[in-house]
Amino acid sequence: MQAGVFAAPGQFIVEDRPEPSLDTVPPDWVKLEVDACGVCGTDLQIVKDPPGHPADPGVVLGHELAAHVVELGAAATSVREGDRVVLAPNLYCREQNLEPCPQCLRGRTNHCANFHTIGIHRDGGFARYVLAPDKALLPIAPDLPLGDAVWIEPLSCVLGGFNQFEVNDTDTALVIGAGPIGVLHALMLKSRGLSVIVADLADTRLEQVRNAGVDRTVNVQVESLAAVVDEVTDARGVDLIVDAVGGQLGTAVDLAAMMGQICCFGLNSLIPTVNQSRLTEHELRIFGTFVGVGTFLQAIQLLEDGMLQPSGLNLTMPLADLPEGLDLCRTGAAVKVVATPGS
Ligand SMILES: [Zn+2]
Ligand SMILES: [Zn+2]
Repeated sequence: MQAGVFAAPGQFIVEDRPEPSLDTVPPDWVKLEVDACGVCGTDLQIVKDPPGHPADPGVVLGHELAAHVVELGAAATSVREGDRVVLAPNLYCREQNLEPCPQCLRGRTNHCANFHTIGIHRDGGFARYVLAPDKALLPIAPDLPLGDAVWIEPLSCVLGGFNQFEVNDTDTALVIGAGPIGVLHALMLKSRGLSVIVADLADTRLEQVRNAGVDRTVNVQVESLAAVVDEVTDARGVDLIVDAVGGQLGTAVDLAAMMGQICCFGLNSLIPTVNQSRLTEHELRIFGTFVGVGTFLQAIQLLEDGMLQPSGLNLTMPLADLPEGLDLCRTGAAVKVVATPGS
């Protein structure tokens, strides 16, 4: 089968791989046929030279996948052949049948000592077949469009941050970064009836975000974000801010309203300068968020209910074209690239 592989720092290739066999995994694992798998910012970080995220060279990438079950291990009981499922790709103690580590015991599975991700630490969904424990699979409705189903995993991460906001009907909101994570935050804020500004550097992305229903977009290379925030909020500042890029806390603190809330989601190596006096005087609430805990079912429900319909942002392509697909994500020409390994 064809597989999209992290070959070496800076190298993502599509090559031929043998089909994975259930003989190589514990008996509660199943074999999935991948229907579609989305490209995540983490994939781009892994493939960067030097890498911005660790992964083992030779691994098949892809962790945002919708699939159906084609073969069951002897002890796999929670799914049946033919079931349509989504993968929760981060395996914690429970999914690996390990005694719970101290973090898992406290319910903080996202900080599990045995954190192991399908599509990063072992072969993932940029291939026709992938293996996964039955405990990491969740059923999805037959009529949920495939193009929306591939957004479940990133939405589950976004909800880990979004759920920490205290949202009021009259709040204004700003999302810094119009990649897939920024867009999902913007759509969640929109779904709560808020007026949202999205800032980015890529006009193509901003245009797609406007088409998805965002009120105001700002290309910060062309326009002053501070001036737009002043205009939209009558100089009160923004109530809810998401940094979906990383390193934007200084900007966020400068643009926040009194008692504003700032969700720090994006990760990179930038170290921002922050006006701490403003933070104190404005009584800002700032929180970091890393992978959602228990947010998968909520993500599935939101998409099945049509509260968010992000599939219009997808650029879908066969697996063989994925190296170019990654380039389109990197340059900001595409918001979301989705591979269909069966095509
Ligand atoms: Zn991801
Ligand atoms: Zn654990």
